[in-house]
Amino acid sequence: MAKIIIVGGGAAGMFCAALLSQQDHQVILLDHNEKLGKKLFITGKGRCNFTNACDEETYLQHVLTNPKFLYSAIYHLGPMGMIDLLESWGLRTKVERGRRAFPVSDHASDVISTLSRRLKQGGTEVRLLTDVTDLLYDEEGRAIGVHLVPLDQAGSRVGKGEDLYADAVVVATGGLSYPTTGSTGDGYRFARERGLKVTELYPSLVPLVCQEDYLRDMQGLSLKNVELHIKNGKKEVYDEFGEMMFTHFGITGPLVLSASAKIGPLIGVKPLKTWIDLKPAVSKDQLDDRLVKLFEANRNKELKNVLHELYPAKMVPVMPKVAGLEGEIKVHDLTKKDRLKIVETTKHFPLTLTALRSYREAVVTKGGVSVKEVDPGSMEVKKIPNLYYIGEVLDLDAYTGGYNLQIAWSTAALAAAAIDDKAKGTSK
Ligand SMILES: Cc1cc2nc3c(=O)[nH]c(=O)nc-3n(C[C@H](O)[C@H](O)[C@H](O)COP(=O)(O)OP(=O)(O)OC[C@H]3O[C@@H](n4cnc5c(N)ncnc54)[C@H](O)[C@@H]3O)c2cc1C
Repeated sequence: MAKIIIVGGGAAGMFCAALLSQQDHQVILLDHNEKLGKKLFITGKGRCNFTNACDEETYLQHVLTNPKFLYSAIYHLGPMGMIDLLESWGLRTKVERGRRAFPVSDHASDVISTLSRRLKQGGTEVRLLTDVTDLLYDEEGRAIGVHLVPLDQAGSRVGKGEDLYADAVVVATGGLSYPTTGSTGDGYRFARERGLKVTELYPSLVPLVCQEDYLRDMQGLSLKNVELHIKNGKKEVYDEFGEMMFTHFGITGPLVLSASAKIGPLIGVKPLKTWIDLKPAVSKDQLDDRLVKLFEANRNKELKNVLHELYPAKMVPVMPKVAGLEGEIKVHDLTKKDRLKIVETTKHFPLTLTALRSYREAVVTKGGVSVKEVDPGSMEVKKIPNLYYIGEVLDLDAYTGGYNLQIAWSTAALAAAAIDDKAKGTSK
């Protein structure tokens, strides 16, 4: 039997603890929050899209950063294996559109209580309001424990704390997104302090800030079935079809969050030219034909009173402005050139991306502890025996759809198996 300390009681830490405590190890799970799974509770808008019901190859195609590193972890416990395991632990699950898996109850709290029940059954010692301030090492550089300080209900440290020793230490401290859920980036600090590389960090799956003032006039407007194109210089770096929304600062919605995950490192270096194809199903010629017919039938009306036929109400005052026309112009006064300007604006509605929104609004952190520092077959840090890194703290991220939580489950399961093998002397 080994004694194992797990730092962080989020998805990865809880799952790793649940698996290890079933193997009769002494497991201590530490979290500086007042309860476990604070971020899990808000996942999937409170419904917890805990995985994506697909095979391993399909899964890996949706991982954006370092999918190859995840190969062993995903083949150890893949999405379908996770669904089966949670079902066997008493959670009833369902699969919705886009293969997104949820608890049948639509309550993330049921995923947390399923994990918590296993922790209790396995005898895991859970210490909440406990801040891990440092990791401890022996003279040979092996991980041997942590220094922890208790917190009061207000989150202030109480006393100097204590050293706690173990045979293995697992860091499952998550990233930097939604800091109110406890993601303070401590795992990155622990890594840097021992000379481990932490790659550049960015908020990801996050709304985007745009330069144009006219967006404010359209805030709250949601667009379906549009195409978002993003260019970096001459190179098109994003081109996807879907749903998005205008806000007071820029754009958000599924299409935009996915874009942020692709362009995060580019944005901020210089503004990125972007355009929305508002009518991707029709060609420029087809759209022009439609405009010709529309204008012929409404020759004596003002342009702004005709555009309702083609665009949502909040967009109507904006379209002529962006096209360089007066909304009050009579349709019979419009030239062919004017009409083509409207066609062009519809197919190339221009935006300029200037920044990512902050970690407070980001679903995940892009970047993290470099996967080069970690053995992909065990999650053990190559240079530091008995230290394991799992979950979002690693330089791994994926698209929305349940793929990010699967990173937490798979890396946690592989680390648990490796720790168990090592303790039993059966490691490969
Ligand atoms: C709003 C939102 C919705 C999301 N929805 C989904 C979804 O539906 N599907 C999906 O796949 N992914 C979703 N995600 C992403 C997913 O939540 C994360 O990928 C996942 O929670 C990462 O798990 P983790 O265990 O690595 O980190 P976390 O869940 O962040 O857990 C880390 C834990 O470590 C603790 N901790 C940190 N430092 C210390 C320290 N020094 N001492 C003690 N404790 C510490 C923290 O308090 C925290 O509890 C969502 C994220 C957000 C923000």
